[in-house]
Amino acid sequence: MTSIATLGSHCALQVLKGAKDEGFNTILVCEKKREKLYRRFKFIDKLILVDTFLELSEQKCVSQLKDEDAVIIPHGTLISQMDSSQIESIKIPIFGNKWILRWESDRKMKEKLMIESNLNVPKTIPNPKDISSLVIAKRHGAAGGKGYFLTTSEKDYVKKRDKLIAQGIIKGDNDLYLQEYAFGVSAYLQYFYSPLTDELEFFGVDRRYESDIDGLGRIPAPQQIDIDLIPSFNVIGNIPIVLRESLLDEVYSMGERFVDAAKKLVTPGMNGPFCLEGVYDDNGKFTTFEFSARIVAGTNLYVDGSPYSTFLYNEPMSMGRRIAREIKKARKENQLTKITT
Ligand code: ATP
Repeated sequence: MTSIATLGSHCALQVLKGAKDEGFNTILVCEKKREKLYRRFKFIDKLILVDTFLELSEQKCVSQLKDEDAVIIPHGTLISQMDSSQIESIKIPIFGNKWILRWESDRKMKEKLMIESNLNVPKTIPNPKDISSLVIAKRHGAAGGKGYFLTTSEKDYVKKRDKLIAQGIIKGDNDLYLQEYAFGVSAYLQYFYSPLTDELEFFGVDRRYESDIDGLGRIPAPQQIDIDLIPSFNVIGNIPIVLRESLLDEVYSMGERFVDAAKKLVTPGMNGPFCLEGVYDDNGKFTTFEFSARIVAGTNLYVDGSPYSTFLYNEPMSMGRRIAREIKKARKENQLTKITT
């Protein structure tokens, strides 16, 4: 009997509830400090308690997961807690394509895949000396927006960088990636691609609610100047969005181009959930500043289905449940190796 396992954070509740609804045994790899929280949820059959998530590579954890015939569902916490080589060396089947997670973590590889997908991406600024317009400085990997800042000149950049170094958030220039700031309203487009049916499903949209940047509008301009705050983009939660219906055609095209490019660049391709993240400008044109090659926390909004999953399924379908359904279908058709790596 296959089990579904994930790490205790990010979207674990949604993933394991969906797995249970599809009839799976559910396992949570849980830090001891969060045991009390996760014991509250009866759809979690088993907790594997660890001091840190790095124990996922250790024999004790691996053998427990193997005994349960587990498939691991990767999410943002896996990427932020383990480096690409550690993830690639995990000895348990990982849902989707674990090789593409390296492309998500490395800004240069990320840019290459987005350009190959023919997405409209903001310009990279190779050197702080080249800053001449509004630029966002971002950390590598899935930092969740923490320590990101806006800047318009090299001088201002150096001041803000040094403050982050003093706070121990970054070590130096190499930890920052500079990108042209894209104007507009943000939208995170959530997809699922099934290699079993070769079909792309558009699942939902959200925007992130980020501190401090989203709180700044409540402070009048003169006080903003007085407080000398470097606002960060640290994600606190997610807010649902529905798009103008006329935008949907391009949403599907972008997702399909991404799936095609991933097939070319990183075998076996973009299997399972992914997200294109960016902003719509005043002409409804989308600029993609980022992608996630796995389930995103914004799907937590739609545990009972989204305005878009409702058009595809006549039952409540969360992304977590969609993943479990894919595993169920693959297991029935003896194709588990096609959807895991
Ligand atoms: P994740 O946790 O999803 O992996 P991340 O840490 O890689 O995210 P991004 O999603 O790239 O970070 O950026 C965090 C936030 O910064 C975004 O939600 C958005 O508000 C803002 N942002 C990032 N890049 C740009 C850009 N080029 N133009 C405008 N805003 C941006």
